[in-house]
Amino acid sequence: MNALANRGIPIQNSLCTLCGVLDESADHVLVRCMFAHMVRQRLFWRMKVPTGRKFDSVGELLQSVNGLGLSSHKRKVIHAVYLLALWRVLFWRNQRTEVHRYTQLLKKKANIVRLVKA
Ligand SMILES: [Zn+2]
Repeated sequence: MNALANRGIPIQNSLCTLCGVLDESADHVLVRCMFAHMVRQRLFWRMKVPTGRKFDSVGELLQSVNGLGLSSHKRKVIHAVYLLALWRVLFWRNQRTEVHRYTQLLKKKANIVRLVKA
């Protein structure tokens, strides 16, 4: 269930803004969503980190850096890159949400103009 709905904030659609398939949650958008997974796969491939593993939460993803058998310095660098990737996915998601809100606002404005002219 969407965290906003759980807090009593009315929402029209609880589905993920990116995939539109599953309910949106922080862990879904940032880790489980197929779009977040694609971003991460490309990132892992570029950093030569073993790919294919699926994660259930942000915490699990960030903890996975410790199991890569890398030096402390390399772990810190990869951890920072993971954080940037998470931020990028969230930014992407928020952009899509704002576009959706703007589109809805334009539709309402068009309906008001239509009512005034009628
Ligand atoms: Zn999704």
